[in-house]
Amino acid sequence: MSRIICSAAIRGAYSIVKQAEEKLNEAIESKGKDAKVEFPNTGYCLPIIYAATALKVKTLSDCEEALGHARALLPPMPEEEVWLPYLGWALDAGIATLFAEEVIEACKYLIGPNPVEGIWLGAASDVILRERGIEFVDGTAPGFAAVVGAAPTNEIAVKIARELQEKNLYVFISGNTNGKSFAEQLDEEGVQLGWETRLVPFGKSITATIYSLGFANKAALSFGGVAPADFRRNLIYNKNRIFAFVMALGEVDDEKYANAAGAINYGFPTIADTNIPSVLPTGVCTYEHVVPNILHDKIVEKCIEVRGLKVAAAKVDIPVSYGPAFEGERIRKEDMQIEIGGPGTPAFEYVVMRDNSEIEDGKVEVVGPDMDEMEPGPGKSLGIYVEVSGRKMQSEFEPIFERRTHHFLGEAQGFFHMGQRDIIRHRISKDAFNKGFRLLHIGKIIHSKYHEEYGALLDKVQVTLYTRKEEVEKKLDEVKAAFTERDERALGMTDASVNQFYSCTLCQSFAPSHVCIISPERSGLCGAVSWLDGKAGFEITPTGPNQPIEKGKLLDEKLGLWEGTNRFLYQASNREFEQVSMYSMVTNPMTSCGCFECISAMLPMTNGIMTVDRDYTGMTPCGMKFSTLAGTVGGGIQTPGFVGHSKFYMGSSKFISGDGGLARLVWMPKQLKEEIGEALAEAAGKAGLEDFVNKIADETIAVTEEEVFEHLQKVNHPVLAMEPMF
Ligand code: SF4
Ligand code: ZN
Repeated sequence: MSRIICSAAIRGAYSIVKQAEEKLNEAIESKGKDAKVEFPNTGYCLPIIYAATALKVKTLSDCEEALGHARALLPPMPEEEVWLPYLGWALDAGIATLFAEEVIEACKYLIGPNPVEGIWLGAASDVILRERGIEFVDGTAPGFAAVVGAAPTNEIAVKIARELQEKNLYVFISGNTNGKSFAEQLDEEGVQLGWETRLVPFGKSITATIYSLGFANKAALSFGGVAPADFRRNLIYNKNRIFAFVMALGEVDDEKYANAAGAINYGFPTIADTNIPSVLPTGVCTYEHVVPNILHDKIVEKCIEVRGLKVAAAKVDIPVSYGPAFEGERIRKEDMQIEIGGPGTPAFEYVVMRDNSEIEDGKVEVVGPDMDEMEPGPGKSLGIYVEVSGRKMQSEFEPIFERRTHHFLGEAQGFFHMGQRDIIRHRISKDAFNKGFRLLHIGKIIHSKYHEEYGALLDKVQVTLYTRKEEVEKKLDEVKAAFTERDERALGMTDASVNQFYSCTLCQSFAPSHVCIISPERSGLCGAVSWLDGKAGFEITPTGPNQPIEKGKLLDEKLGLWEGTNRFLYQASNREFEQVSMYSMVTNPMTSCGCFECISAMLPMTNGIMTVDRDYTGMTPCGMKFSTLAGTVGGGIQTPGFVGHSKFYMGSSKFISGDGGLARLVWMPKQLKEEIGEALAEAAGKAGLEDFVNKIADETIAVTEEEVFEHLQKVNHPVLAMEPMF
């Protein structure tokens, strides 16, 4: 083993622990020891401390205990600049640093300055963890870069950020160099920051680095099933599963070095653009621990090489960057070259199946003028007409492909995609136009992405782009007729009309006994997988997570029990569960992983249920917030009285039909009511419930079960006349 690490990390750790003590004293003086501290909307308390020690920090006096752990970890203070022979000391100093920083940030939430301010986002809530963390687990995002400090110029900052985005990495930003932060540099250049663009500004002080590492810890606790206090496993999970690294820009002082030492514990190396002491391989990280002196135009490449990332480069041949990080990017009016569609402007996107002999693969044609001959501005007509063929293609799959254009086109930098079918409104930015992006490239993207993702089903993809208003209108007759036919077909498809359901076991990677059983009237609980998606998924990967389930003999029509679905569940849940009711949340309900869009829970006093969605972070009448409920229901178990489900399922005639159906619904968040109100009203109408949606309470009407009950009597909610739910 070669020379190890300099004493800077230890000095930095001492300094940060001291700051934490001071901050904590200040907090105790003004609020008292029993004052509550928390990072908002999380069940993981201060996640690094919780993951390491199982200590749930909830009050300032808990903070004192946590700081005690930090102090105990501090190695002896080196008397002079030395190389320590033992990496362990620096690692311990790193962990002490992280504990102390969590205490500092928690105190900031209590007595200020508030970590959430201006561009700064502070701690990631559990909602964000679920949404984004799953991308790390399923590989949509290969990992994250924790960028600390600032680039020498704004221009270099933008270039580095774009490069990281192109690699699909999340960019977690904290700290500053001489008062300037990387996030501020991006902000000054008009780069859109936030979780949608994967450029996440946590905080300007170095202590905000714990939000990056805390996120990694929470991912291990939540997706990796690692128990709190099993810190060793947590760190190993991170080393093996979360591909992350620290990019240190600008001078690295003792405190930054202490954070780098903290990150090394997770197997996350630090790559710097300045001359700092290097730390060579010893087995904690996959490769080197600290790599200094890297030029800015090489630094992203170097980070990826050092951490051993395998990044699949986008193969789409277009003149702008491409990747999921660009999907969340909005384009403001002033920045747009053209807007396609919108009210009063005929436009559509449409996918249709053809015979193999009828089309030519890769043929992309613009019929009418392209963007060079268009005045900038809104109101542009466009018909995106896609023809596909293949031996395994079925016309049933047309809508699946069509929906995917939303992601495929949106991932081009400077293309904003909104809507579907004949109600679309897309924007193309001036910047993209100046880089050479034209309408023709829409066809190129569709051609290459369809082949990449659906190669198993498709042989040929041909795209025609109609840009003259009259021609788009003419084509619209044909297209609209096809949409109508499709809708009728979908309406006719019910659970009773098919013999096969489909499974999805994708989430078993972190909830090993979880099985989604997907029927035409009940989609996967994440909302992303419909019965048709399941069917297509099986065709694409016959040994994959979507398997056909022969319903078999009907055992109980009301509850939705079949021999085939039970048998499948038993085997696919690794013999954990024997029975699943497709239509009940009381008797053997479906298992819930953690991706549910909504959770429904019984409210015994009302004889009904409440439904809360992931976006609602307030308290609910069952006495738990969504995050707490998710902890109770998730993990791949059956929880009678509770169930996770998709939004789509709420508009289905099979929505807990075994327990009385939609009429049981007595409370839901206002925003959700607005979002799916139309579907609910339709389903209620079919069930013979009059003016039903207006009778459902929301948080503006009732927050406790008692208040809900009062409301039900006021509006004469149908649940009052129903038989008991049990
Ligand atoms: Fe599949 Fe269900 Fe997970 Fe969605 S929640 S990915 S349908 S297993
Ligand atoms: Zn899931």
